[in-house]
Amino acid sequence: MSEAKRPLTLLLASPRGFCAGVDRAIQIVETALEKFGPPVYVRHEIVHNRFVVETLERKGAIFVEELDEVPEGGKVIFSAHGVPKSVPAAAEKRELIYFDATCPLVSKVHIEAGRLHERGLQILLIGHAGHPEVIGTMGQLPEGAVTLVETLADVEAFRPHDPDRLAFVTQTTLSVDDTAEMVAALKARFPNIVAPHKEDICYATTNRQEAVKAIAPRAEVMLVIGAPNSSNSMRLVEVAERAGCTYAALVQRAADIDWGALGHPHTVGLTAGASAPDVLVEEVIAVFREHFDVTLEMAETVRESVQFKLPRALTGE
Ligand code: SF4
Repeated sequence: MSEAKRPLTLLLASPRGFCAGVDRAIQIVETALEKFGPPVYVRHEIVHNRFVVETLERKGAIFVEELDEVPEGGKVIFSAHGVPKSVPAAAEKRELIYFDATCPLVSKVHIEAGRLHERGLQILLIGHAGHPEVIGTMGQLPEGAVTLVETLADVEAFRPHDPDRLAFVTQTTLSVDDTAEMVAALKARFPNIVAPHKEDICYATTNRQEAVKAIAPRAEVMLVIGAPNSSNSMRLVEVAERAGCTYAALVQRAADIDWGALGHPHTVGLTAGASAPDVLVEEVIAVFREHFDVTLEMAETVRESVQFKLPRALTGE
């Protein structure tokens, strides 16, 4: 007779997984493939998820690092993270047909940075060096117009041209709590600094962090499905750790789960970053069912209804 499985409650965070910006970016690639037929080129990972990238590759998308890898007459799509202004300019120069899958909430930050610059303000960007979104946002303005600050030490070390002519914007996928600390430090040093009209951290990042905070007190373990280069996924792991989970880990797929490291939990929290498809969540739930007698519990903190339209140039509407 087989041994009885140990009971385990799986607390499923909601909202989790795909956000409206990721959904739109993937739809843009799929629509372009339907409209033009393969191949369609995509500059950089359309979203930070290998599974999504490989699925689109099978449909005929070719992922490239730079535009010069796109042949003459090729159709190219820019990723959801946004691109520096030099990228569409280079595409136009080469007369490539391009579609911009930049999330509208990232574009909002680009527009905001442009307006602040027009007002003659020196701009600080709170974000992570090297992230494509940071490269894209800094690349909206001439070199030197935007200064990146990553840590409280950076805020401390910053020397402005004029402390009364400053503004800040932020990356959309940061930790809400860390950013609040950074903003407080900036305001303490520069009381006249201009803040964004509306929070730059996007609704999806905020909601996924809130959902993790809500279930963390009940879960000894938190698993976050996402990619290591996905900023919002990495932040979810940190949020879970700070909210008291004894073990929190990022897994790209079910095969990545380190069962030994989980210990012997009674309750496991499960969520997914904004670029992780729900099929991967299903995969993880299925593998838990193989190991445990699972009770699945949905923990919804808020219901999302945000949707973004596809570019008119692509749909013809
Ligand atoms: Fe847009 Fe936020 Fe999704 Fe990024 S995480 S694509 S900013 S909605």
